[in-house]
Amino acid sequence: MDYWLDRAAEVSPVVKDALARRFPTGGRLTVREVRARFLARQNGKCAICGADGPTHLDHDHQTGEYRGVLCLGCNVGLGHFRDDPKRLGEAIRYLDRVLL
Ligand SMILES: [Zn+2]
Repeated sequence: MDYWLDRAAEVSPVVKDALARRFPTGGRLTVREVRARFLARQNGKCAICGADGPTHLDHDHQTGEYRGVLCLGCNVGLGHFRDDPKRLGEAIRYLDRVLL
């Protein structure tokens, strides 16, 4: 697991390009380092719900670009909604209709 975190950013050209856009030293960063930088920006909290100590490095499945660090629930939630803001909006409107 730790080995994968240190190597993953080095083996994917798509990830390298995405990192270079996001961070000045992007191509030289490991996944672990990218996650640490996002966590510092996010004050150690999930970028969506604010839970402490998130561990999942969220990325755009089309571009490979990293977007932030999320807790398991938020990361899986985005995946189930296919990263689609329209679908997420519909879910919010649905809950507004059915919840008291
Ligand atoms: Zn969360």
